[in-house]
Amino acid sequence: MLVQEGITQLIGCSDSPRLDAEVLLQAACGINRTTLARNPCQLVDPQSASAFFVLLKRRSEKEPIACILGHKEFWSLDIELNEATLVPRSETEILVQAALDAIPPDTAVDVADLGTGSGAIALALAIERPLARITATDISRAALAKARENASRLGVDILFVEGDWFTPLAGSRFDVIVSNPPYVRQNDPVLETGPALFEPALALFAGEDGLDCIRALCVDLKSHIKPGGLVALEHGHDQQDAVYALLSATGLESIVHVNDYAGLPRVTSARGSL
Ligand code: GLN
Repeated sequence: MLVQEGITQLIGCSDSPRLDAEVLLQAACGINRTTLARNPCQLVDPQSASAFFVLLKRRSEKEPIACILGHKEFWSLDIELNEATLVPRSETEILVQAALDAIPPDTAVDVADLGTGSGAIALALAIERPLARITATDISRAALAKARENASRLGVDILFVEGDWFTPLAGSRFDVIVSNPPYVRQNDPVLETGPALFEPALALFAGEDGLDCIRALCVDLKSHIKPGGLVALEHGHDQQDAVYALLSATGLESIVHVNDYAGLPRVTSARGSL
């Protein structure tokens, strides 16, 4: 049976060999998991079987399922991905929540998501706060194209603009600014074996200390935040002090850290002065 063969190949390569094998077989055959569970011995045509083995090989080389399938669930939304986008992480839902806490549901406020990638954060905010006027930027044209596709598939209205951090937003001010910028150190050893090997370096790495992008973003932050507005940034679990220092040097106030599901400081927010 193909699933069993898949499981055998994935043991030692994946923490969830059965689930992965089933999901990949489903993708290769175009059937859903329920059908597969009901008919585990159903005949699979030779073309689908060989497609399955190609996917299995990619998974056995540790490519994340989300990269293989080209989509990932985030905030209960199906987000499509491409080679220019990061796979949305569950920690980033903490950032979405921090932003939602600052966006009233009944008022039209201006929101910016910088370095939007697949658009995951902006899409979640747009779904939760339909009145918000959301602008999302990215330096990668390919990532923006995917984000635009996601927005139109999910039926939300977001203004996408291409460019580096605040460069395409000259003259605009926002009530809420969020970003999950690249923050991984250039030589971070965990990346030698991690799933990030399969993701775009441009979306992950930010110089020797991982703070290059946050530093760049902080340069113009003050002139783009409305009085009392909120800035929320995702960062590495050990970067909270550095991010605190960068935000406070820009003159922002009420700086607080928010922990992720593992209890590690993952998001820092601050307010523009009134
Ligand atoms: N959290 C991601 C990782 O550790 C990095 C995301 C990012 O750089 N924005 O792989």
